Amino acid sequence: MNLTLYGHRDRWIAVDCGMMIRQDLPGAPLQVPDLTPIDTLGIAPEALVITHGHEDHIGAAAWLWPQWGCPIHATPLAAGLLHSKFAERGLRTDAIHVIEPGEAIEVGYFALRYLPLTHSIPESCALLIQAGERRILHTGDWKLDPAPLLGAPIDPDTYRAIAPVDLVVGDSTCAPEPGHSRSESEVALALESAIAPLTGRVVVSCFASNLDRVLAIARAADRCGRRISLMGRSMERMVRIAQGLGYLEDFPPLVPVRDLGYLPAEEVLVIATGSQGEPRAALSRLAAGRHPHFELMTGDSVIFSARAIPGNERLIERLKHALRLTGVTLLDDIQRPGLHASGHPYQDELRTFYEWVSPHRLLPVHGEARHQKAHQAIAREMSIEAPLTPRNGDLIRLDDQGLQLERHYRLTPHIIDQDKIAPVVGAEGDSSTRHGQLFLAISVAATEQGWTRIGRLMLDDSHTSPLDEASLADRLDECLETAQGDSLADLRAILYPDLMAWLADHLHRVPDVHFQIFAVETQAVMEK
Ligand SMILES: [Zn+2]
Ligand SMILES: [Zn+2]
Repeated sequence: MNLTLYGHRDRWIAVDCGMMIRQDLPGAPLQVPDLTPIDTLGIAPEALVITHGHEDHIGAAAWLWPQWGCPIHATPLAAGLLHSKFAERGLRTDAIHVIEPGEAIEVGYFALRYLPLTHSIPESCALLIQAGERRILHTGDWKLDPAPLLGAPIDPDTYRAIAPVDLVVGDSTCAPEPGHSRSESEVALALESAIAPLTGRVVVSCFASNLDRVLAIARAADRCGRRISLMGRSMERMVRIAQGLGYLEDFPPLVPVRDLGYLPAEEVLVIATGSQGEPRAALSRLAAGRHPHFELMTGDSVIFSARAIPGNERLIERLKHALRLTGVTLLDDIQRPGLHASGHPYQDELRTFYEWVSPHRLLPVHGEARHQKAHQAIAREMSIEAPLTPRNGDLIRLDDQGLQLERHYRLTPHIIDQDKIAPVVGAEGDSSTRHGQLFLAISVAATEQGWTRIGRLMLDDSHTSPLDEASLADRLDECLETAQGDSLADLRAILYPDLMAWLADHLHRVPDVHFQIFAVETQAVMEK
């Protein structure tokens, strides 16, 4: 999730305000950034500036912004999504200001320009941030899509014109991937050729936030003579807001799901949420035969047009198994890689982009450590200074000496619990006898048999007596070897008692424990 603060002579702006789903906690609650260090430092941003409308960039705004009350600047679609989120929480919406891609604003000491990019949602922008003599390009999420479905391709001249910049704060998500990401229009063709020969009803699942993809599916359906229904609240909301803003003009008229029964099978296509195996989402309900108006059967096909988010692999496998039991044919990007494209830049795109903007320095953000390191390596190969791979909570200084880590602030995970922001409870059960706090996070990847731990423990035991890290890691690995859990929440529930037992054996007094499990791509296992 993304929240970056930029400060110059004690005046600040915030860029993006996103959330993430805590897959390892029961009920998969939303986690939002911890503002404690910002409050401690007395930082009050004078504006919240949004790069694009994805949840990891806007999802926490309706929770955190009320503490700031500052103006919010966003391009029309992101502003529309924010409007709907604010209204849902009963917040006033007059602070949300619409800015068009290409426009500029001034906030405090900062001059900002919204530079259009391509990504998987329209109106994504990089921000050229100028303060004093320095110019920083904050890329947000991007890719070089030569033929996006919505909006124009990136204009290289826009970026050549701003070269050289002092610093790029840039998207690392796909930095380990050689070559160039696939264009959304290639995915559109692949979808159409996958759907054309099918004779039964078709369900296509993708992320609602990938508006290009939703449109590609709808167009493919139309060309194949199929009518369209939407399933899933987030899908309905995204399409409604986008249509309200004049996007999706050629989106075919929607058929309510309850009326699909009147249509012949070969004329039906449903766009559904739930590609990640989320138990409550539309696709899982269909697989379990729990939809009141739609029952999957032999002859129907289900297409997955999304990648598996790390940690969800086993849930997705379980969903696919349940779908196969209904007799449907499954198509996914494993059999047909063309059915999905990443919205983030591969190595060739990073190189091309940096040739345009000639950054002196790079801060690789947006990704796991592995992605940041790969991004850093590309920068170095291009003689761009990239001394740091920042972590959440780092305060970094840019001055004549370059980039320096000034200080790291430890962040306490905060989740949305019963409509309120609350710290994740440190330790389940009675904490009155506990002493001190221990922060432990581990990375795991799904394997054929179960789960395996990747990399080092992320351990902060500065508030307890020191721990034997290697021995703790051994204990966790032992437990992981036999752990049979489909989700990260299952896994956490299995590991937690073992962890507490180990601590009770090895520490004089048991601390409050903040334990978090991250998932990384299975590919990381092979590179281990
Ligand atoms: Zn994004
Ligand atoms: Zn993002």
